[in-house]
Amino acid sequence: MSTRTRQRKTSKKSATKTATSLKTQAPKLPTLDVRNRRPFMTAIQIEAAFAASLAGVTYTRITGWHELGDGTARYSMPSGAGLTYTPDADTPLTAWTPCPQGVRHPHPVTTRADLLDAQMVAARCTDPHGDTPVRLLADRITLAAEDTQTTDVRDLRADAPQEHPHD
Ligand SMILES: [Zn+2]
Repeated sequence: MSTRTRQRKTSKKSATKTATSLKTQAPKLPTLDVRNRRPFMTAIQIEAAFAASLAGVTYTRITGWHELGDGTARYSMPSGAGLTYTPDADTPLTAWTPCPQGVRHPHPVTTRADLLDAQMVAARCTDPHGDTPVRLLADRITLAAEDTQTTDVRDLRADAPQEHPHD
């Protein structure tokens, strides 16, 4: 019996010694500075996704909503349209649907049918929308195309001397 007791004491000592040596050899764990990090989700993102879900637009992800800095949030939909969330507005959700004239049409959204209406209204738009930046750019491109001269590449080759003629 006394032999058994001695063996236990010995094994306990060695276990303690091993734990101590591991403690001294353990590498320093990496630390994460969380002071200047943005939260994973913000309240406005959660509110926006919830409002969209109530309106029947159920496919938005919470983290897909981007805060715009003015208390609103925007979600980019696969169709190219944007959906904005403005808390405390009469209709918090607004679809911004691009039309063929290059402008985004605002359309209040309370149901999923409103979202489809916004797409149909924008697709049928024939209004040139006056002097919007996109319209002005499109007009400049058209004018620039009218001023363009056609150039024959053979004339260019004849004018420029070639070090290694290819004939
Ligand atoms: Zn339009």
